[in-house]
Amino acid sequence: MIAEHQHLVGQGAELVELRLDYLAGDIRFRELLENRPGPVIVTCRRDSDGGKFSGSEESRLSILRMAVAEGVEYIDIEEDVAEQIPRFGNTKRIVSLHDFRKTPPDLAEIHARMSTLDADIIKLATLANTPADNIRMLDMVKKAKIPTVGICMGEIGTPSRVLAGKFGAPFTYATFHAERSLAPGQLSFTEMRDVYHYDDIQADTDVYAVIGDPIAHSHSPLVHNAAFRKLDMNAVYLPMRIRHEQLEAFLSDAPQMGLRGLSITIPHKEAVAKMLTQVDRVIAGIGAANTLLFSASGMVGYNTDSRAAIDSLESRLPEREDALEDRTVLILGAGGAAKAVTYSLLNRGAKVIVTSRTDERAQKLADHLSCRTVSWKSRHGVEPSILINCTPVGMHPNVDDTPFDRHYLKPSMTVLDTVYNPENTLLIKEARSQGCVTVTGTEMFVRQAALQFRLFTGVEPPEKTMRETLRNSVGAVNV
Ligand code: NAP
Repeated sequence: MIAEHQHLVGQGAELVELRLDYLAGDIRFRELLENRPGPVIVTCRRDSDGGKFSGSEESRLSILRMAVAEGVEYIDIEEDVAEQIPRFGNTKRIVSLHDFRKTPPDLAEIHARMSTLDADIIKLATLANTPADNIRMLDMVKKAKIPTVGICMGEIGTPSRVLAGKFGAPFTYATFHAERSLAPGQLSFTEMRDVYHYDDIQADTDVYAVIGDPIAHSHSPLVHNAAFRKLDMNAVYLPMRIRHEQLEAFLSDAPQMGLRGLSITIPHKEAVAKMLTQVDRVIAGIGAANTLLFSASGMVGYNTDSRAAIDSLESRLPEREDALEDRTVLILGAGGAAKAVTYSLLNRGAKVIVTSRTDERAQKLADHLSCRTVSWKSRHGVEPSILINCTPVGMHPNVDDTPFDRHYLKPSMTVLDTVYNPENTLLIKEARSQGCVTVTGTEMFVRQAALQFRLFTGVEPPEKTMRETLRNSVGAVNV
């Protein structure tokens, strides 16, 4: 614990919580506290509040009293024992309450009750079951007269941890290491510092997010936050896990959290397109949105996947306006990405043929956008000029899979794989070895993110930084 404390202070941590309930055996207070490199919160959590302390309640309270006697900077005392640990010396009192099942409906009353317990700081940590729990918690933090750290636990609650400071919390909690989470949904100290730049988040910081379910593995927060950082912008971008049934309520509450824009990913692209107050021509054609802006006139949607796919392809084709005209393009897959790509290819005059593992899905897409289909098992007979993979086949961890047999890849073909993790999928590697022109999913991903960034901020995106960040990140994932 001493070594880890020193390490964290070296990393820039200004306040470190010592969880004494994680220490086995007798606690050697002098050794632990005497030469401490920075201020500490001493916490000794019992089992019922998510801690590890297994001794008697009396011995737990006596450990806490001893810490106060040693003059620690902060002591964490649960609401029900706060009166049994008297104020002493300069030690500040954090009066805390945990609820691992829910975020109670009466947060304001609970806070008022805790305010009577001679608290310097009030801490509330409760499980978020809906995105609205974050909003209620942060609203309570903002209105509190006594400095309050209010955070929601669980994956749904992660935004409240990052945005705590924006709403006036004196600090937030992060873990020593990503693999050492003490509570669900916690981020590591380095993520807080290097990805979200917690210390730079202020009341007027603009908030953006990617919404999806699942969302934990999204690369968008890394890429967008790196772009904000590069341009020194007062903005932060978060991952938000939103379940399908929570989507509508979330969209109506989102501006209260300071949200100005969203990236939308699986499975919400189509549902969001139906909820927009303003749609552009592309969304009307595709029926799916991957970008949403909250504006005075309501929710405005865009689809940057569509344009990004075309731009990525055109960057590798001869520089002519009609480079795609009359080209035969075979699209593998018939989901959201396939729809977005097909729509813009048809607009450029390409001859699009869609094939999907589920024939009916390909047929539905083809009926909607007016193009041809072939059955999945006949896909190798098409001999397209351009082949685009819009299925997840080949994505990490199934990196040895490919959706198209290499024997049918011809040197005259251009191959775009929308899968970006890994960058060099088996399809891309085999296409390269057959002499095809290749376009990777990272290229498309960076372009769709850069287009979003421009829509979000009106500022020219730092594409090089975004590309490098994504490459480093997908590289790291595949090591
Ligand atoms: P989606 O709506 O779920 O559609 C997936 C399509 O792939 C469906 O047609 C599905 O067929 C098919 N598929 C799934 N597993 C398959 C398998 N094992 N074999 C054959 N076909 C299979 O997903 P989406 O939003 O279109 O995304 C598809 C891919 O595009 C993802 O890998 C995503 O990462 C990528 N993407 C990349 C970017 C980028 O910027 N690079 C942007 C958007 C999407 P069934 O109907 O039979 O399940």
